[in-house]
Amino acid sequence: MTEELSILREQAKRFLERQFVPHRERWDKAGVVDRDAWRAAGAAGLLCASIPEAYGGGGGTRAHDLVISEEIGRAGLGGGFGAGAGVHSNIVAHYLLAYGTEAQKQRWLPGMATGDLVGAIAMTEPNTGSDLKSVRTTARRDGDAYILNGQKTFITNGQNADLIVVVAKTDSTGGAKGVSLLVVETANAPGFRRGRNLEKIGMHAQDTSELFFDDVRVPRANLLGDVEGQGFVQLMVQLAWERLICASGAVVAMEMAVELTAAYVKERKAFGAPLLTFQNTQFKLAEAKTHAVIARTFVDDLMVRLLAGSLDPTTAAMAKWWTTETQCRVIDECLQLFGGYGYMTEYPIARLYADARVQKIYAGTNEIMKLLIARTL
Ligand SMILES: Cc1cc2nc3c(=O)[nH]c(=O)nc-3n(C[C@H](O)[C@H](O)[C@H](O)COP(=O)(O)OP(=O)(O)OC[C@H]3O[C@@H](n4cnc5c(N)ncnc54)[C@H](O)[C@@H]3O)c2cc1C
Repeated sequence: MTEELSILREQAKRFLERQFVPHRERWDKAGVVDRDAWRAAGAAGLLCASIPEAYGGGGGTRAHDLVISEEIGRAGLGGGFGAGAGVHSNIVAHYLLAYGTEAQKQRWLPGMATGDLVGAIAMTEPNTGSDLKSVRTTARRDGDAYILNGQKTFITNGQNADLIVVVAKTDSTGGAKGVSLLVVETANAPGFRRGRNLEKIGMHAQDTSELFFDDVRVPRANLLGDVEGQGFVQLMVQLAWERLICASGAVVAMEMAVELTAAYVKERKAFGAPLLTFQNTQFKLAEAKTHAVIARTFVDDLMVRLLAGSLDPTTAAMAKWWTTETQCRVIDECLQLFGGYGYMTEYPIARLYADARVQKIYAGTNEIMKLLIARTL
């Protein structure tokens, strides 16, 4: 942390409390945040904080992104605006920055920073999730364009997205080497259709959608990086950061769970005494706090390594599976201490519980993380 980051944290916190928290329940019911919220977040400097100023971004580092995403989580918006903003700023914008041609960066990044363009990444298909190289979506060359055909599902920001990085096969015989990333601009894409906004166990305010591409004509100039067959490698290079962001979300959620529960058990009485006086309560919370501190220490260390350019994807995979697994366990134990109130959605612990479950599934399932770690044994 630096003083500048502390100021950013305070600013983000104040903005979110004032502008977003009052809408949280309405967004939960709508299944999506207001489109204008994206522009408000852009104006407040909460989008694309680590994209250079030359492309409209905040000109900061990934530490700026992390501070913002921590505050979004602490405001209870992790399962609403948080996941989508993470995909937008931490993933899509960084794909464009890392691989885009100069023209692509100039064309898309400034709009992403203001929130005028919302980004999404579409990898997963109904028949292919973990086995990414088996995607069936195809991009066939036709003159100065590609003809895109396929279906995607579970796509974060699917309803609001204006720019969708689509994982497609430009060579269906090429396995991983046939995979390319095409940027679909939804405003001008006949044949593109958004399907259902899927109903989920948690993360209710986050739109998660099916997407359909039927003979969508995508200009050749929208091939990310201008070279075919690079998609798989492009996806892999960004993984350490994506996993670390997930792990950081897990840490914040655990810290919140411990805080909320500690406050509750001091107030709530059973058998004439506060719950905190029972040794079981003390032990459970002592364990939960220990887990949160260990996770925080690990993730902070990895963040330092990431900023120094030395974080490897395997260590990031360890952080992703362990922190998210621990997050689910810690929140479950904390919820238990709330008794029946813990099951009521008006209690923030219930929201933390419902939002946590997906952490073990997306950004590469925890089983896939373990496979990757096992390869290095
Ligand atoms: C809320 C939400 C948001 C999402 N957002 C996005 C998004 O923005 N963009 C996007 O592209 N995708 C997104 N996803 C999709 C997500 O990344 C996939 O669901 C995930 O990668 C798993 O793929 P799958 O669902 O097809 O499961 P499968 O791959 O079918 O896996 C099913 C089970 O089998 C296990 N498994 C698979 N292969 C192996 C193996 N080799 N060894 C051992 N176990 C294995 C898995 O770990 C899992 O437990 C999102 C998903 C959710 C739920």
